[in-house]
Amino acid sequence: MGKKTLLASWKERGIAKDKRLLKAFLSVPRELFVKDIPTEEVYEDRPKPIGEGQTISQPTTVMIMTEALEVKAGQKILEVGAGSGWQAALLGKMAGRKGKVYSIEMIHSLAEFAKNNLVKARAGNVSVVEGDGSKGLSNEAPFDRILVTAACPKIPRDLITQLKDPGILVAPVGGINGSQKMVKLRKNKGKITKETLGDFSFVPLRGEFGFGRQ
Ligand code: SAM
Repeated sequence: MGKKTLLASWKERGIAKDKRLLKAFLSVPRELFVKDIPTEEVYEDRPKPIGEGQTISQPTTVMIMTEALEVKAGQKILEVGAGSGWQAALLGKMAGRKGKVYSIEMIHSLAEFAKNNLVKARAGNVSVVEGDGSKGLSNEAPFDRILVTAACPKIPRDLITQLKDPGILVAPVGGINGSQKMVKLRKNKGKITKETLGDFSFVPLRGEFGFGRQ
């Protein structure tokens, strides 16, 4: 499967209708963010291993989550779970030169992997921070948008606190095994509303407000 096949399937399914998102996808080469994957598999619509038992997420899932975040130019965004850095690079494109993305990664070797990949992709407005993202990133809060790319038992309270009003947070929520519901949470005029975007399957969120240590 190549880029063209993916784009055609998204068009048919009404995914990634936002032209800015498609432009971001086309301008951030996924091949810079994978590890030991044959070229012909880079754009397969599957998660791929990146080491340490973790994955770079499936392209379609990344498009659905990014579209749900409704990112606007100039926004400040927090991603929890940098992994390869690919999702963060896409968010960086969406936020533009005046925007800023912080992506937290708990595993040292992956934080380094993401940092190197983001340098190769010239994603100058994205910073990778090593640490426990289940607690958010209080010294850079509040954020216009927050994206969690690992399965949460429930949305960590600190993340909701660190979300601006108005703001949007997207996170897969559910058990450690099997699938989770993708939750889109909006904060507006002091009120929190939630909608569910379907079933997805993610590696677990670790840390204090995730599923703890392995
Ligand atoms: N967004 C990534 C990408 O574009 O490649 C994919 C993320 S992968 C599905 C989930 C990542 O979350 C893993 O790299 C994992 O180490 C990380 N992670 C899990 N719990 C975490 C935590 N509490 N804080 C920070 N990162 C965490």
